[in-house]
Amino acid sequence: MRLLPAAAGSGIVFRRTDLDNFEIPAIGRNVAKVSYATSLMRQGVLISTTEHLLSALIGMGVDNVIVELDNLELPILDGSALPYVEAFEQVGIRTQRRRRETIRVLRAVEVREGNKFIGVYPGSGYRISYAIDFPAPIGQQKTCVDLAAETYGTAIAPARTFGYKADEQKLRDMGLIRGASLENAIILGARGPMNGPLRFNDEFVRHKVLDLIGDLALAGRRIEGHVVAERAGHAMHTAFVARLLKDRSAWELAHVPVEEAAAAEEESRASGTGVPAFAGV
Ligand SMILES: [Zn+2]
Repeated sequence: MRLLPAAAGSGIVFRRTDLDNFEIPAIGRNVAKVSYATSLMRQGVLISTTEHLLSALIGMGVDNVIVELDNLELPILDGSALPYVEAFEQVGIRTQRRRRETIRVLRAVEVREGNKFIGVYPGSGYRISYAIDFPAPIGQQKTCVDLAAETYGTAIAPARTFGYKADEQKLRDMGLIRGASLENAIILGARGPMNGPLRFNDEFVRHKVLDLIGDLALAGRRIEGHVVAERAGHAMHTAFVARLLKDRSAWELAHVPVEEAAAAEEESRASGTGVPAFAGV
């Protein structure tokens, strides 16, 4: 996999180098089947497990990038988004001249399915509240993250994906966790993680936030508002993106104020890094 710089306004686009550079933009229209991971499909060409990379890109403020892949599956790495964030930091992120376009939420959009829920509400910045309720040993966890506070790299990116040892054979039989191992996921036994220690006490809910950021990236632009999720998963995340995009009166395309963009550019010149990027992973 290789990440290349892209022109302002082009968004996040996957490119299959093994299929004549066939391109699949990371937008809601291209979402394929969603179960344990999120996949994109266009004209029969598939890209699977997009959520962790998309999360890292949005979390680190990258709006425009080309992602080259020579097969259909993104690397699982250590099950978190940290290796991506570290790679971005190594090569740096470039600020582009055009102002960032966001989806600014004007009124509530909510989706409920039994006891699962996602809603988005007006608010400045990009804030996510997530609550989960899993069988033991996880139980209930909740967290609230403000992405504007530049917390993604330390508070969210390191949180790893997880699964129950008891489900392992069933999932393997279904072909859902072909590559899962103690190196790329937290495996939970009856008494707790079998490959501890955890990176955070509430690593599980933090990983759900990571996944949600990655799935909401499929709205095509960064969201400006407050997202609240309870007991949701990939299928619900992507269904929510479809609902949001369809409800055209609930949001407007907005632009980051000129002063803010200029300040970011100033800062990036000073530190040698900024927004939109290229990196090799
Ligand atoms: Zn995940």
